[in-house]
Amino acid sequence: MSGAARSFTPFAGRRIAVMGLGRAGLPAAQRLRAWGAEVACWDDRPEGRAAAEAAGLPVQDLAAAGAFRFDALLLSPGIPHRLPAPHPVAARAAAAGVPILCDAEFLFEAVRAAGSGARFLGVTGTNGKSTTTALAHHLLRGAGMVAEAGGNLGPAALSLNILGTEGVYVLEMSSYMLERIATLRFNIALMLNLSPDHLDRHGDMAGYAAAKARIFARQVAEDVAVLGMDDAPTRAIAAGIAARLVPVSGVAAQRPGGIWAEGDRVLRDEAGPILDLREAPALPGAHNAQNAAAACAAAFALGVPRESAAAGLASFPGLPHRQERVAEIGGVLFVNDSKATNADSAARALASYERVVWIAGGTGKEGGIAPLAPLFPRVAKALLIGRDAPEFARTLAAHGVPHEIAGTLEAAVPAAAAAARAGAAPVVLLSPAAASWDQFSGFDQRGDRFRALVQALARVDGRAA
Ligand code: ADP
Repeated sequence: MSGAARSFTPFAGRRIAVMGLGRAGLPAAQRLRAWGAEVACWDDRPEGRAAAEAAGLPVQDLAAAGAFRFDALLLSPGIPHRLPAPHPVAARAAAAGVPILCDAEFLFEAVRAAGSGARFLGVTGTNGKSTTTALAHHLLRGAGMVAEAGGNLGPAALSLNILGTEGVYVLEMSSYMLERIATLRFNIALMLNLSPDHLDRHGDMAGYAAAKARIFARQVAEDVAVLGMDDAPTRAIAAGIAARLVPVSGVAAQRPGGIWAEGDRVLRDEAGPILDLREAPALPGAHNAQNAAAACAAAFALGVPRESAAAGLASFPGLPHRQERVAEIGGVLFVNDSKATNADSAARALASYERVVWIAGGTGKEGGIAPLAPLFPRVAKALLIGRDAPEFARTLAAHGVPHEIAGTLEAAVPAAAAAARAGAAPVVLLSPAAASWDQFSGFDQRGDRFRALVQALARVDGRAA
């Protein structure tokens, strides 16, 4: 097998331009070259080009004049090919009739060229993609199956191994990636929900929904389509689906052949209850019930037994920064939801707990935290950080919510802990409803800092959970 693997060159004779040499682009270029392609790489950032040169990859200005002589353009998902304005390299490819593809497409082609019938599970939606991808992967692995997860989350598609026919790829697919698939057919395609997002790239809601719906485009009757039923734009997609439809809901929207959650918590299908999600600590809230129903539907379609799926839901460790339970100190639970960079996702977290001490703030989005007002009765006290703390404070003051401008996480965490322990609430929740760029390199650094500060408190307390 290792001899065969060495001579595996499914892309021999193909000329592939690789534009964008970041987290996914660089390993993709290396992999495609190892698989026999003639690659040419470019990145508008000098550091991207330097990394390619250091890796011994040919670097060439793909926007330079002359014919665009390639068979395909692998374009980084972050670079637009249409809206708001096509990148010059994408425009050249389009003018030359060269297909613009994403890395998952090449993975699919390589797997099939290897003669492997490994199945592909694609996961998309506006919210919950990463959680559902990780959860589905966990359920498959828990049933002893060979599965790899990646794509938009975790390792890039072209960093995954070639699996045999028994294997399953679980790929998180963004709308940007879905616009750039050609032959990739998902045996199981899963769409959670749709709400307005990335409209600058897709023109309008219809364009965005159309890009997302491409996850079902190449499916045939023997495939399975897992579709969220909890919002109208997603439900509307059902009409165009060729595969067997499994409708899923995080609320009690029961449909034939589907999986739904009764009272937000008891996940069930027509055969009966699957699990009371109170036994799944990493999946709080109705939004996670939707994710759990969808992951379960996909797992069942791939042959995971019922009991094994239930055990997997219960043992799912969750993803960092998404309502991550960091520690319980002196009866107070500390939750890191740093990924909540807008009011909509913070709403999910606030709705998951009866009463919280809330740490919020950073670079707010349009409208700030005003849309969260219906959830303010759950906030015993708010500690505010970052650039927009004063604006958030004004909103809270208008609604009579006790609050304090702490400025930094270093000040907010001990103050929140003290308030919680004084009896204000059993939960300290970091769910900023704001981007982090004013104080951190990203939501992950913000969440890591929160976790470190909480763990330091736990050490002082001597009762880390
Ligand atoms: P994505 O990968 O789509 O950004 P994540 O799984 O990383 O989604 O979750 C990000 C945040 O989105 C979570 O912290 C939560 O606030 C919210 N969220 C997760 N799942 C859902 C869902 N099914 N519906 C609505 N919001 C969700």
